[in-house]
Formats: sequence, C-alpha cells, structure tokens
Amino acid sequence: MTFAPHGKHLIAGTWTGTEQTFLSEPAHGPAHAFSLGTPELVDQAARAAEEAFWTYSTTTRAARAGFLEAIADEIEARGEAITQIGTQETGLPEARLNGERGRTTGQLRLFADHIRKGDYLDRRHDAALPDRQPLPRPDLRLMQRPIGPVAVFGASNFPLAFSTAGGDTAAALAAGCPVVVKGHDAHPGTGEIVAEAILAAIVSCGMPQGVFSLVQGGTREVGQALVQHPLIKAVGFTGSLAGGRALFDLCAQRPEPIPFFGELGSVNPMFMLPQAIAARAGELGQGWAGSLAMGAGQFCTNPGIAVVIDGAGADAFAEAAREGLSQTGAQVMLTDGIAAAYAKGAARMGAQAGVRGLLTSMCDRREARPFLFKVSARDWMDNRVLGEEVFGPLGLVVVANDEEEMVQVALSFEGQLTATLHMDDADVALARRLMPVLERKAGRVLANGFPTGVEVCDAMVHGGPYPASTNFGATSVGTLSIRRFLRPVCYQNMPAALLPDDAAS
Ligand code: NAP
Repeated sequence: MTFAPHGKHLIAGTWTGTEQTFLSEPAHGPAHAFSLGTPELVDQAARAAEEAFWTYSTTTRAARAGFLEAIADEIEARGEAITQIGTQETGLPEARLNGERGRTTGQLRLFADHIRKGDYLDRRHDAALPDRQPLPRPDLRLMQRPIGPVAVFGASNFPLAFSTAGGDTAAALAAGCPVVVKGHDAHPGTGEIVAEAILAAIVSCGMPQGVFSLVQGGTREVGQALVQHPLIKAVGFTGSLAGGRALFDLCAQRPEPIPFFGELGSVNPMFMLPQAIAARAGELGQGWAGSLAMGAGQFCTNPGIAVVIDGAGADAFAEAAREGLSQTGAQVMLTDGIAAAYAKGAARMGAQAGVRGLLTSMCDRREARPFLFKVSARDWMDNRVLGEEVFGPLGLVVVANDEEEMVQVALSFEGQLTATLHMDDADVALARRLMPVLERKAGRVLANGFPTGVEVCDAMVHGGPYPASTNFGATSVGTLSIRRFLRPVCYQNMPAALLPDDAAS
C-alpha cells in the first residue's frame, strides 16, 4: 500500500488547504508539498476545540476509552502505509517504526484501561458534620476535571509515539480535553495519515469533530499563535531547549498564563562505580557504546556522559566504549537541521579546554558517526558547555580523581530525565552517598541498566527538574501523564443532581 499525502490540515473534521506550501525534506523518496500553517487556521482549530469541549468533557469514561481504542485500531489498519511514509520522511528503519507503532497503539489502549478504572479522578469525600462544634463542616467532594483544549507539539525523534497520536494526545483525550496538534515539519506526511486515522475514529465513535485538529507548520508563526491562543489551556511539547524555552516564555507572558509541559533535554549521566568497573569494565563499555549509538543517538534518554574514577579500570572502560563505537557505521539523522546541529555540537565539545578526542569522525550531510571524548572532572565542573546535550551518538567520559570528586560531579549536574548507577554489592556505600543527590537531579534513577528504553506503564516518570522538563511535577510518559491535563475541583454542599456523573461512581 503506498500513501501519497494530499498535504492539507485537518481542522475539525475538514481537510483544508492554503495557497502557500512548503516541501517536506524526506531522508529518501519523493518530497511532497504541504499547505503552510497560519494563525487563522490555529484560531479555527482552537475555536472548534473549545466548542467540542462542552460535549467531549462530559462523555462517559467508557465512551472515551472506546474512542482511544478505535484510534489504535485505525492506526493499525494503516500500519503498512504509516511505516512506508514514516521511513521515507525520517530515515528511521522499518523495524523501528513498526515497533514505535506498537508502542503508540499500546499507550492509547493503556489510557483506555486507565480511565475505565477511574482511580485517576482522585475522588475524595469529606462528609458533612452538621453537629460539629464550634462550626459545622459542609459536605466536600474533590475530583479531577479536564482543563480545556490542549496544544501538542509533535516531536521529531518519535514520529508516532510522541507525535500526532502520541502520548500527549492520548493523555489529553483520555482526560476529556480536545487536542490541537502542531505537526512537526520533519514528518508531515506521517502526521497526515495518523490524523486520518483519528478522524475515522471520531466518525465511528460519534465524537464531536473539533475534538482533534492537525495544523501543519512550515513557519514558526503556527507554534507561536497556538501557545498564545486564549482558548488553549495547556501545552505538551518535546524538543529542543531553545525552542521549548521560547514557547514556555510565551505561555508565561500571556494575559492568562498557562502550563507548558516541555520535555527539553538531558545528558542522562551514568556513574560507573569502582567495583563494577573492576569486575566488568569491557562489558560496561560495550554496553554503553550500544546504548549511545542506538537510533543514531536520537533519544532524549541517550546516556551522553559516563563518570568514572581514575585508574586502569576506567581506561579499560573507555577503550571498550571506543572500540564498540568505532564499529558503528554512519546512520541517517532525522533532519538536515539535526545533523548539522550534531556536527556543530561535536566540534564545540572537541574545542573545549581539557577535552581529548578518543574517537572523532567526519559527518556527511545527513549522516552521523559516533564521537567519544574524555575530560577530567575538574575541567568538566569548570565549564557548563560540557554539561549540555549534543543530540546524537556522542559520549563524554568524565574522570574523577576519587569518590569525593565523583559526588561533586553529581552535585554539579543540572536537572536530568535519568541518572544511572552501575554498581556491585561492594559499591553500596558510595551508591548510598550518590542516591540523595541523584534523586534531586533526575526523574528516573536506574541501577545496572541503560536508560534508553522508556517503559510505558503506571510507574514511569519521564520528566525531571529543569531543563529536563519545564515542570518537575509532571511526566510525559506513563499513566501519570494524564494529570497534566486535569485540575482538581472541590464541590461544597452540592446536590447530587449537580455533581458530575463521575462523582458518584
Ligand atoms: P525543536 O527545534 O525544538 O522543534 C520542536 C517543535 O517546536 C517544532 O514543531 C518547531 O517548529 C517548534 N518550535 C521550535 N522553536 C520554536 C519557536 N521559537 N517558535 C515556535 N515554534 C517553535 O526540536 P526538533 O526539531 O525536534 O529537534 C531539534 C533539536 O531538539 C535536536 O537537535 C535536539 O537537540 C532536540 N531534541 C530533543 C529531544 C528530547 O527528547 N529532549 C527530542 C527531539 C529533539 P519548527 O519546525 O517550525 O521550528
């Protein structure tokens, strides 16, 4: 099955074009023309979303669960075509896109189960105490309610699972919030076919058409207009620190500021403790190389920094990583821009004081080859540039003189999505010193694993202190992510006839 995009926006059930277009930049295959997004289209989509909210927010949890499952079914029905256009646009291999499709439909179904159970409503009831002295207590009920239309920015590196029908969209729709997606220019055709699947589910489930719109980009105006639109009540975003921060600031400057849930970037440090390094330096170095190079390093959880304590084990670890990375061939990156940013980031890293190149390569136009650098802990702590994310397969070994310096390095990190301890039983004392620090720095702390796989489940946290995310209380993966699009309302002395249906059940 071949899919040729028509290049239009989906505004509340209607495919709409504009005169001006932009061309997609596929990794391979033909480029297609896409209608340029405009603030007017954003306005139409936001108004339709607000109108749909009054109906959609009062649908039953069972109806919304059925809708989410129907979206998953419609995505599966288009599976082959989605993989075909997705591979062309992003350069990601077929197997990766098939796997990501499974993750996307899996998380839609997970949210369906989650809202059926109803725990997410966090219902609390303090019954009236009319005879209490000195004052009676009124009847008080609390529950979580949907907030209104939500803006979602598709991510470049997960064209399915973090994009049009990805985790942010699934969480918002599950909560009872209509969604306006700003399509990512790196995969507009993939966005279009997934939007087609969502529209089919809207029709088959009888949902209001304004519950979902996709506005393609092609210009920064679209994203800016979207986060500033007065009817938009929250934003879900995955992307760069610079882009995310600019949009976050726009949200804060609005007459009515709104929450911006941005997942922005992380170097995901790994702490290689001495006994683990003594026992298996080669295995750990090889493992790190595999994790770093996977998917051309284009994962927000890519472990870009390994902190070691100086010695023969640390050298063996770095050598095993170098050897592993040197066997990795060139990999196509998601966009020309990301490839250019990677080459620039690698050059910047190599030029910093005290940084030694263990593996340096030339990058072709849209291809990445791994880089490996080494620096002393002192030089690393003196230079903030060395703690910045370089998106791609680039690793930095930070060498501490002793345990105390390793703890100082841990204290120097900014907020992270993940932090990892590689340890053996005999490392427990040092691990115990590091744990309270890592807990303050990261949303997820791992022992003896690599952070690149992010399980979609109840207990996952994919977030962390800034700049990992703009909101440390939130996660963008897992069922807890629904809380971003809900707010608690307290009903005092409310007659049953006026309470939301969910309050009673
Ligand atoms: P990006 O440049 O931040 O773009 C993400 C989305 O936000 C795009 O739709 C983009 O629209 C929009 N946007 C960005 N800045 C904007 C602004 N000032 N005003 C309005 N809209 C704006 O991220 P990306 O394209 O996905 O990747 C580029 C870089 O982001 C990578 O090199 C990497 O460093 C980082 N990244 C990080 C993660 C992560 O998980 N932390 C994931 C992917 C990428 P336009 O396309 O129109 O600019």
